[in-house]
Amino acid sequence: MTVQREMYTRNQEALRLAELIRESGTVVALTGAGISVPSGIADFRTPGTGLWANVDPMEVAHIDVFRRDPKRFWEFYGDRFQSLEGKQPNRAHEILAELEREGLLAAVITQNIDRLHARAGSRELIEVHGTIGHSSCLRCRERFELDEVRRRQRADGFGVPRCDCGQPLKPDVVLFGELLPEDALERAHELAATADLMLCIGSSLEVYPVAQLPEITLACGGQIAILTQGYTRLDSQAAVKLSGDIVDELEAVATALVAA
Ligand code: ZN
Repeated sequence: MTVQREMYTRNQEALRLAELIRESGTVVALTGAGISVPSGIADFRTPGTGLWANVDPMEVAHIDVFRRDPKRFWEFYGDRFQSLEGKQPNRAHEILAELEREGLLAAVITQNIDRLHARAGSRELIEVHGTIGHSSCLRCRERFELDEVRRRQRADGFGVPRCDCGQPLKPDVVLFGELLPEDALERAHELAATADLMLCIGSSLEVYPVAQLPEITLACGGQIAILTQGYTRLDSQAAVKLSGDIVDELEAVATALVAA
């Protein structure tokens, strides 16, 4: 009985969100680590999990280490790349790409660097923490795609992928000690300010700048919906809060949208 009741409540909330998406002019999604967990990517802030268990990322994934000791940096980062390379987008990524194709979603802003939104087919995508999809030379600004970066890394005696000019390549992700990419940030702010509805998915809304964006939407008169397991400090201001499994919840919303 309790389970049925829960299912009923969940469906009601999913229906409400589907309605809200239909009624809203501009809908923007904001995603965090939680959307990639069903793809087998552990949230690195979860203590004791994954690659970050035995290393302090603040120490290794730092721009100073990259500049001072690229070999050490790439020893660590190469493993990180490798662990992400084989991962596939899940249904939640796919549903967001479908909503965009159907004209129901204007853009996805993500703090994830795993490029799974891009691989699922999202077109208007703002990766505020960058992406592992390419690396660049800080001297001549030449950019190399992931496959080529991996090839160069394997070919180098020290395991450091290098530009044709000889400089070590840097992944185009925001390292500790680096500023966020200005143009991506500006675009994210713009989208947050013009969104009638922001879908906050799989984020605890604690990490800057993702934490700030829904507040901008609210301040500009828009609404927010939260699909995240666990509490966030904006729950009380959300028009809808869905706390179940992200894939199940989004699937329910997508089904309700098709039925509408
Ligand atoms: Zn170069």
